[in-house]
Amino acid sequence: MTLPQFRFHPDPIATGAIKKSDKACQCCGKARGYIYTASFYSRDNVTDICPWCISDGSAAKKYDGSFVDDYPLLEAGIPMALIIEICERTPGFVSWQQEIWQTHCDTACEFHGDAEKHELEKWDNDSLQQFLTEQMLDEKLWEAIVQHYEKGGDPAIYKFKCPICGKFIYSIDFS
Ligand SMILES: [Zn+2]
Ligand SMILES: [Zn+2]
Repeated sequence: MTLPQFRFHPDPIATGAIKKSDKACQCCGKARGYIYTASFYSRDNVTDICPWCISDGSAAKKYDGSFVDDYPLLEAGIPMALIIEICERTPGFVSWQQEIWQTHCDTACEFHGDAEKHELEKWDNDSLQQFLTEQMLDEKLWEAIVQHYEKGGDPAIYKFKCPICGKFIYSIDFS
């Protein structure tokens, strides 16, 4: 069985948002071999959702829930159709604080999971300075963060990619 495609979260297995599991999906009742592991915001306590019920919007509809916080996307002025696609039909991700889905070129970015340590070490100075300014970090602190960085650790650094210009956008998240 091939997983549904999520254009804003192209490899949810690699990011850990979806994992292999024998569990039955709470929404459709079927055990289809994969279960979603990250955030779902709903008044109901929904723990097991399959990727197909994410992709077709049925879980978001049934539980009046969302996988991603829409606020940062609304603030960024992204077209409503894309916001709905991301919040209601795209796997989210696990974060320490409320997640902020990144935007660039007036569109939403693709989520690519935790950044690799080696990519953080080889940023050019312009990208680094821009990142430090945006995140309000000083360079000394950043050096210490990179030195101790581990994927899935604290702080977490997430990698996004702009689907228009191809630029990688990073965000940092502390516990
Ligand atoms: Zn399902
Ligand atoms: Zn861009």
